[in-house]
Amino acid sequence: MRTPIIAGNWKMNKTIVETKAFLDEIKDFAVDGVEAVLCVPYTDLAIVKENIGDYIKIGSQNIHWAETGAFTGEISPLMLKELRVEYAIIGHSERREMFGETDETVNKRVHAAFKHGITPIVCVGEKLEEREAGKTKEIVKKQTIAAIKDLASEQVKQLVIAYEPIWAIGTGKSSTAEDANEVIGFIRQVIADQYDQQVANEVRVQYGGSVKPENISTYLNQPEIDGALVGGASLDPTSFKSLVEGG
Ligand code: 13P
Repeated sequence: MRTPIIAGNWKMNKTIVETKAFLDEIKDFAVDGVEAVLCVPYTDLAIVKENIGDYIKIGSQNIHWAETGAFTGEISPLMLKELRVEYAIIGHSERREMFGETDETVNKRVHAAFKHGITPIVCVGEKLEEREAGKTKEIVKKQTIAAIKDLASEQVKQLVIAYEPIWAIGTGKSSTAEDANEVIGFIRQVIADQYDQQVANEVRVQYGGSVKPENISTYLNQPEIDGALVGGASLDPTSFKSLVEGG
């Protein structure tokens, strides 16, 4: 049985003051049988660590592969560990599209995260023109295989993958639950082909793209979908709590 995982991706939103106000609203919040994660900007990690209970796990939105060095503007796994970061989003489409992230750098970040005991949430997903050209499965297969290259099966079992069709992110146009379920089942099959069915059965795969409290249950009712990676709707504390409760 895979435990559902609901993760908020705040992207570049919330100052420390705004984060503190959010945290005041979710004190003592917990839901049995669902894992909840907040992936906040680096500048908010310290205040989150000081003010969050044990239930909600802390995530970053990226992670560098080196422990220290001349990498201006990057953040290392050692720095994240001190901030009690347990998850790191890797290869979000916004990083791939706007900041030069490649399949190769995604794989390096995934290895670094595992080396330091941080669980990667690897994002994969197709652009609108790729979907329209019937290339969705080809794209997610290529991204998935590249992201997990050279991982041990014990690591793959712990991995979280987020299937986020790019055309559904922040657009209000969500994928249908049936479509998302089919692509996510395909991603699991890709992992089974690379490793084996038992490994694939343990990997958690989320859906992301315009998920809201009103539609989350349609995704979670699908057999292959193990949770959601949520942008906009995770910024409001009441909405974040309903998302987790919907899981
Ligand atoms: P939205 O939920 O705002 O569409 O964002 C999805 C996303 O990119 C989460 O990583």
